[in-house]
Amino acid sequence: MTLRIRVEGAGVAAWTAAALLARRGCAVNVHAECGAQERIVAVPAKTVALFEDCLGVAIEAMTPSRWVEKRCVAWEGRDLTGIPARALVCDASALAEALRVHFIDEMDASLEHEWVLCAKGRTRGDTVVEAGVRRAVVGRMEIPDGFPNEAMVVAATPGGWIFAVVRPDGDLAVVSIDPSIELVAETVLRESVDFLWPGFGAQVLVLGAGTAAPSFDRTCATQGRIALGDNALALDPLRGDGIGFAVRGALLAQAVLGAIASDGAIEARLDYYRDRLSHVFLGHVRGCAAHYEAAWNEPIWRREIVLMRSVLRRIPMDNKFRFRLIGKELRST
Ligand SMILES: Cc1cc2nc3c(=O)[nH]c(=O)nc-3n(C[C@H](O)[C@H](O)[C@H](O)COP(=O)(O)OP(=O)(O)OC[C@H]3O[C@@H](n4cnc5c(N)ncnc54)[C@H](O)[C@@H]3O)c2cc1C
Repeated sequence: MTLRIRVEGAGVAAWTAAALLARRGCAVNVHAECGAQERIVAVPAKTVALFEDCLGVAIEAMTPSRWVEKRCVAWEGRDLTGIPARALVCDASALAEALRVHFIDEMDASLEHEWVLCAKGRTRGDTVVEAGVRRAVVGRMEIPDGFPNEAMVVAATPGGWIFAVVRPDGDLAVVSIDPSIELVAETVLRESVDFLWPGFGAQVLVLGAGTAAPSFDRTCATQGRIALGDNALALDPLRGDGIGFAVRGALLAQAVLGAIASDGAIEARLDYYRDRLSHVFLGHVRGCAAHYEAAWNEPIWRREIVLMRSVLRRIPMDNKFRFRLIGKELRST
């Protein structure tokens, strides 16, 4: 059976799923509305390899990017400890656009669809569980003297966490994660920057702000509709490998649809998809809670930690799965 699928979204999850489904022989139509803000991301080397494995593309050749070799963390104060962590720094929207250009010929533009893949980015609503209310503020600034250009820097500041990395086009990308949604975004980002580089007096250009708590849509797979990427499960940018999850989620969604196309059995596959994502969500929230508890300025994170712990108590963790993703296919266990 050939499935007719409409993919909604314009990010990495949407284009990865569309490309994989088209290769599978499904008829695919993508409805993309591009409007995402500039978002500089560090994509771990294992995720870069995953793009090569599942799509056959070298993403460092597709979009302006640069490699960093270390993650330097300051859990307290300004002393950074470096650990090896290879990652490719690029703009997530530019990467998605490069995937679109690469795969556009494989799309069928006019189609009566029977399935919708929803990859429209973070969402809210009654069915979405949010493990906190924290916020990410994104900005750019000049590179301070002595900044370790070959590293990404993550530091705890009195107001939250700050993440900094040199952008592919020069300048520094900065993101602060703070628990104080009532404060002015610009003030929070500036105070974190001033704490980490006292006296530098950088002009910080704020590019945007949005929610950063992990979230999961419990209705991410229903008859005729599968949500993927951030639309189904969004990770905390501080710990997460959101791009990696977008690719893995696309891989899983197309495998679920491939299995459905092969024998028409739907419910068990959709149940598996929801349970699998729920499992990933709970594992991620557990890791986040431990991360925030270990922070030097842990008191400012109390409310977030309580919210994360309550999500972990409320949602049962299922460890037994009837299926497994092997390569690009779903197999019974
Ligand atoms: C501040 C911040 C920093 C991050 N840092 C990292 C990092 O360092 N490393 C990492 O791996 N991940 C990081 N992430 C996470 C990562 O960016 C996301 O997880 C990833 O981009 C999700 O991809 P996606 O395709 O699901 O969604 P998105 O990238 O959000 O794409 C969704 C797309 O759908 C489009 N759209 C919206 N509505 C519609 C509609 N109605 N119809 C059609 N299209 C629509 C939007 O315009 C957008 O282009 C970060 C996230 C944030 C917020």
